[in-house]
Amino acid sequence: MAYHAGAELANLECYQINPLIKDYNGPSCAYVTGPFGGFTANNKGDRFIECDYWSGQMMLEFWRELQSGNGPVYLKMDHLAEETISEIETILHTNERPSRGRFHERRGNDYRKRPVEMHISEIGFCSGHSASGVWVDENARTTIPGLYAVGDMASVPHNYMLGAFVNGGIAGADAAEYCANVDLAAFDEGYLAAEKERVLAPTRRSDGLTPHEMEFKTRRLVNDYLEPPKVTAKMEIAQRRFAEIREDLNELCASDPHELLRALEMQTILDCADMAAAASLYRTESRWGFYHLRVDHPQTDDENWYCHTMLYKDENGRMSHRKREIDPYVVPVEAEEMAAYHQLRVKTPQAAE
Ligand SMILES: Cc1cc2nc3c(=O)[nH]c(=O)nc-3n(C[C@H](O)[C@H](O)[C@H](O)COP(=O)(O)OP(=O)(O)OC[C@H]3O[C@@H](n4cnc5c(N)ncnc54)[C@H](O)[C@@H]3O)c2cc1C
Repeated sequence: MAYHAGAELANLECYQINPLIKDYNGPSCAYVTGPFGGFTANNKGDRFIECDYWSGQMMLEFWRELQSGNGPVYLKMDHLAEETISEIETILHTNERPSRGRFHERRGNDYRKRPVEMHISEIGFCSGHSASGVWVDENARTTIPGLYAVGDMASVPHNYMLGAFVNGGIAGADAAEYCANVDLAAFDEGYLAAEKERVLAPTRRSDGLTPHEMEFKTRRLVNDYLEPPKVTAKMEIAQRRFAEIREDLNELCASDPHELLRALEMQTILDCADMAAAASLYRTESRWGFYHLRVDHPQTDDENWYCHTMLYKDENGRMSHRKREIDPYVVPVEAEEMAAYHQLRVKTPQAAE
């Protein structure tokens, strides 16, 4: 919605990709198990990364381990004491997500007996776990005066829930001040009528393609072509396939309000897929570990790409890009610290005790 309204979006090539439990749509929760002594291990039970918390570099090491033949990768807890495992279960299966407890129970998975198999998630946009989103300044203002963005859809890297709360407060205060000083904008009746027609169009058809069919196709193509490591030829094929899906949009039909919501969401997924491909092709270097690993441009190129990449709709309605300078750091960061995340791999794998 922000893109169509004319706002600029930042760093969309920095995807979110997570380590997830195999066949369960939920987090593996290294941040819960890590402090209790659990860790990510390969099929030999060896630890191979120093920090299990999500980052592009962590995902790169995870992917390398899978490629090396040492996969699957697991979350290992079977070496922990009973009271520690019970505490982890209480947190993960009650506070975090009760369906996770049921998932394990019905498969006979017991953290005490065997590690939990993990895999790599689909890609997504989420500043909460990466850095992609609608560009905002320190007051959560987007590039459109009066439009604010916070939380997972704003360009505040790795800000998670606390970041959403804090920035929400800042945005609210700033927006209230903005509103106090401007009159309500005039609105265009013709535009509203056209939008209403576009939104309701799937309900006017009694036969055609279901939102489920079109969403499934879009997601499948995203996984086939956009997952890192990113290959230029595959990205370009994806763009052509997405354009073909767009040709079918006037066959999309919805038989009830729920299907209409899915039909609209499916179009948003398609927009995001297009933006992910375009942004990835624009940044001709590799950065953020696995998140933007380009096979045709494998090096990090600070000389040309130490910048934000901005994606926006130009005056002709085309998806366009530009670079934006990174503001100076508020707190200076040592060069060694800046590169610390690049040293995540454990040098000599430690055998599990
Ligand atoms: C599995 C998991 C575990 C996490 N664990 C932690 C944690 O331990 N600590 C932490 O700090 N963070 C955690 N996070 C991240 C945290 O949950 C998010 O960063 C945070 O919830 C983002 O808040 P938000 O308000 O931006 O978005 P959301 O919470 O996603 O809210 C967006 C809302 O908008 C609604 N919506 C979407 N489209 C429309 C539409 N078209 N019209 C109307 N409504 C719409 C959605 O239904 C949703 O309710 C976790 C995230 C996940 C997925």
